[in-house]
Amino acid sequence: MKEMFKNKIFRKQQLKYMVLNLISFTVIFTIFGLIIFSQVQHTLFTKTDEELLMIKERMVNDTPNDTRIPPPNDKGSRQNERPKNPRIMVIKWNENDKIVNQDEIGTLFYDDYLEEYKLDKTNLNNITNTDVNNLYPFRYLLFEDANDNDEVAYIQLMINIDAEQNILNNFSKLLILCSSIFILLSISASYFLSKKMMKPIIHSWNKQAEFVENASHELRTPLTIIQNKLELMLTTPHEKIANKFENIALSLSETRRLSKLTTDLLTLARADSAETQLEKKNLHVDSFVQSVCTPYIEIAESQDKHFWLKLNCDMMMNADETRFHQLLVILLDNALKYTGEHDSIGVKTYEQDHKVVLEISDTGIGIKDENIPYIFDRFYREDKARTRESGGIGLGLSIAQWIVSAHGGSIKVSPNETAGTTFKIKLPM
Ligand code: ADP
Repeated sequence: MKEMFKNKIFRKQQLKYMVLNLISFTVIFTIFGLIIFSQVQHTLFTKTDEELLMIKERMVNDTPNDTRIPPPNDKGSRQNERPKNPRIMVIKWNENDKIVNQDEIGTLFYDDYLEEYKLDKTNLNNITNTDVNNLYPFRYLLFEDANDNDEVAYIQLMINIDAEQNILNNFSKLLILCSSIFILLSISASYFLSKKMMKPIIHSWNKQAEFVENASHELRTPLTIIQNKLELMLTTPHEKIANKFENIALSLSETRRLSKLTTDLLTLARADSAETQLEKKNLHVDSFVQSVCTPYIEIAESQDKHFWLKLNCDMMMNADETRFHQLLVILLDNALKYTGEHDSIGVKTYEQDHKVVLEISDTGIGIKDENIPYIFDRFYREDKARTRESGGIGLGLSIAQWIVSAHGGSIKVSPNETAGTTFKIKLPM
């Protein structure tokens, strides 16, 4: 039921991502298509527009004005006036919006196309598109005739843009076809992308859920033990404390465990939310490691274990003192926890490739090869029952890994040739 609900949420979120991706793709393709289309249209019409403007210029300049003496050969000048480009047609309108140069246009052409054509002055001096007979596309430039001596009031230069329009129509069809194919392709691309986007979300969701489940389980166990012991003691209120020593000691140890658990959980939660800021300062590597290890030498001796130090890193490094201390304590505690009598624990420091290297090794029970990949996972313990006895929660190495990566370093674990494990940490100086 819980799984089904979870899957439903994931599917809904994936669909949301998919639609969002699809919309983005469609918008990008549409903008892209529109830009290309308008660019092609602009290029196609630039030539015709230049032609129209050039002819207008020529006609305006050639027009004799009142004060000038009319040119000797009127016919000749008219000849000059005539546009060179055969695609261009000149329509002359009089004050009454009637075409006056039917002869020049050609009667046949006039009868077929222009008889019904009306003068439209809205776009005076602006190049505009028009459809003659609602069928033939033209681009025209209408301007006032500068010559007051004739009956012509307006001159309209028309250029047929059938060819350009055809190219544009075909091009827009091609664009629509290509865009449709791209949009279809982007549906599948969106699907795969949304699936890829969901993967890390599902992964961290599952990790988070697992973390919360493990944490609540770990919290519940000591609480149940303490509650049971206290209830048991309440049944015999007149009993002396000395007689209930075992129950009290157990409750106390569980309380300590609870306290450590909550501190560790808080550390990891803060690490996750990037709330914890490192307070770095310069530390002398060997002196610092020596000071942290000193109490462990005594503890190891008391447990009949051999503790050795090989400190060869006589230099300073930039690190958070508290966290660095915590890192060493986690690894040294583990080394003590997972070794028996007559085993040895060793700490080595040296410099390699401008990095500080720390090696903490032991000759203890070691970690099985197949379990090594999970060793830094939260709440991971190789042997749950055994580690519980020794106070292990399974959060130590997760915290150690966070401390190392927060310092920009790396931590690796490898089995020793004979017995036990070595943790190798590399930290930048
Ligand atoms: P714990 O609190 O249980 O020690 P850690 O995160 O520190 O949790 O360690 C995770 C597990 O890794 C341990 O339960 C243990 O199985 C294994 N482990 C860690 N350090 C050592 C070691 N030095 N030798 C053998 N096993 C180890």
